[in-house]
Amino acid sequence: MNQLFTDILIIGGGPAGSTAALFLSELGFDITLVEKKIFPREVLCGEFLSKEVTDIMKELNIYNDFLSLNPNKIDSFCAIDDSGIELKSNLNFNAYALKRSIFDSFLLEKAKSRNVKVIQPAEVISVFRSNSVFSSEVIQEDDNKIKIESKLVICAYGKQNILDKKLDRNFVDKKSNLNGVKFHLPTNLLEEKFDDEIRIFVDKELYCGLNKVDSDELTVCFLENRSQSKIPSRQKLLEAIKSNKNFRKIFSDDAIEYIKSTNIYGTGNIFFGKKEVVEKGIIMVGDSAQVIAPLAGDGIGMAMESAKILFTVIKKFDLLKPEKLYSEYNKYFNEAFSLRVKTAKLIQSIILNKTTRNISFSVADKFPSLLPYLIKFTRSNKRP
Ligand SMILES: Cc1cc2nc3c(=O)[nH]c(=O)nc-3n(C[C@H](O)[C@H](O)[C@H](O)COP(=O)(O)OP(=O)(O)OC[C@H]3O[C@@H](n4cnc5c(N)ncnc54)[C@H](O)[C@@H]3O)c2cc1C
Repeated sequence: MNQLFTDILIIGGGPAGSTAALFLSELGFDITLVEKKIFPREVLCGEFLSKEVTDIMKELNIYNDFLSLNPNKIDSFCAIDDSGIELKSNLNFNAYALKRSIFDSFLLEKAKSRNVKVIQPAEVISVFRSNSVFSSEVIQEDDNKIKIESKLVICAYGKQNILDKKLDRNFVDKKSNLNGVKFHLPTNLLEEKFDDEIRIFVDKELYCGLNKVDSDELTVCFLENRSQSKIPSRQKLLEAIKSNKNFRKIFSDDAIEYIKSTNIYGTGNIFFGKKEVVEKGIIMVGDSAQVIAPLAGDGIGMAMESAKILFTVIKKFDLLKPEKLYSEYNKYFNEAFSLRVKTAKLIQSIILNKTTRNISFSVADKFPSLLPYLIKFTRSNKRP
């Protein structure tokens, strides 16, 4: 087994891992990032990039390069329920949409250009802490094993992972019944233009977000509750399109045929409850630390912001005496995200239930100023 020493090991090269690497590289640490998949790769995501994402890219001096990727600008939001009520609002903040395959590769390449060592494709299969040294085992594609010793380990491995079980995290046996699905649809198969709008359709135990990601494609992404439903996810979406005339009218017949056979990407049993942000001395960022309900369109922003919070805390403490670092990170993480996560979760549960959904849409329809207020509550509150 090969052996490697590094100051900080980061597990996962999504937005949380790459942003942590970019910020921490400013402090002169030797950083190694291990990513399981070959990039570009697909991720379950609506691919909407909120204001928090652009703010952090500006701080990292990568915003202009991001704009050169031609992300699609999104200015407005429209939610339509199964009874046809339409709630519209300007976003009043700077937002974009871009394929995650492009966005995540961009961030990881930026990290490499700032001297972060990236081992990819390779999977971290175990992490142990003994005194103040972490020992992690990594498997590469050819079954080659590497042992990495580090002063700190940051997990940025996403919403669910084999390491959750190995670290005995307290949510691993919980069943949420919430399932997410995403695919891309050519825009020439649409009956309506979606240029600068994110549109959300809500129906029986499902909500579906659509936004254009480039000149040719639209991302279709939905979350469904499988506690009642026995039919497959794709079929459930097709039935929602058939029964909801507002939803149906955006698709041509060719689009429906396309949806019947295109590759879809999904993940089941997504846990939106509270997680510990430090487990056995290992620090969690992004979805590993907390998953926010996707309706907020803010998971990527939160992943990147959590990496920034960690950076501001690490700056202040000695890596070899991390106990104070752990408690400060926990405190700032909760201050920054707890209200946001609770609001988004509440809205999600209201929308996935027919009675509460119909009442809330009728109320929001009568009081249009409520919507911008609610959107604001799912955005950032306090930052360190
Ligand atoms: C239905 C749905 C729709 C969503 N839509 C949006 C949206 O429109 N906008 C938005 O902002 N957010 C959205 N989100 C949330 C967003 O996708 C996540 O919050 C975001 O991807 C989190 O980034 P991350 O870096 O923490 O994890 P990820 O993006 O999941 O990245 C984790 C990385 O770690 C790697 N990895 C995993 N295990 C290992 C291992 N053991 N060793 C090495 N590497 C490993 C993976 O290959 C992956 O590349 C949505 C979520 C859902 C469920």
